[in-house]
Amino acid sequence: MSGKTIFEKIITDEIPHHKIHEDDDTFVFLDATPCAYGHTLVIPKKPYKNIYEIPSDVSGKLFQTVQKISVAIKKAVECDGINILMNNEPAAGQTVFHSHIHIIPRFENDGGYQGKHLIYSEGKAKEITEKIIANL
Ligand code: 5GP
Repeated sequence: MSGKTIFEKIITDEIPHHKIHEDDDTFVFLDATPCAYGHTLVIPKKPYKNIYEIPSDVSGKLFQTVQKISVAIKKAVECDGINILMNNEPAAGQTVFHSHIHIIPRFENDGGYQGKHLIYSEGKAKEITEKIIANL
């Protein structure tokens, strides 16, 4: 059995995904079951489990990527706001144990994002990915 995390398999393209950005230390792709269309995950390429394990130089790079991607998402989906969050440990809702930061677009009167898991219709994830990339 492979010890790789789901997200490592995404980085190595063993699992289909919609990639937005990649650099030496970070990787960015659409969340598969988004709280809002354009919900994106930013991860370190190395599988640090959670915030406690991430070296400070990598956490700095992660946040730089989060900031850059947030600006592009804002333009791409024309949202009214963005939530940035990170779940650490099961008690805090973490389900994938390869650290990741959520970027969630928000809209006035959207009723909140918690507990929502939307499904992309055919072609919609690709369309949003391309829009975000075009705004980078
Ligand atoms: P957590 O609850 O650990 O903070 O969030 C894990 C996130 O990963 C969830 O929002 C979930 O939708 C997303 N996720 C889980 N498996 C996959 C996958 O195989 N592909 C993608 N793109 N996202 C995934």
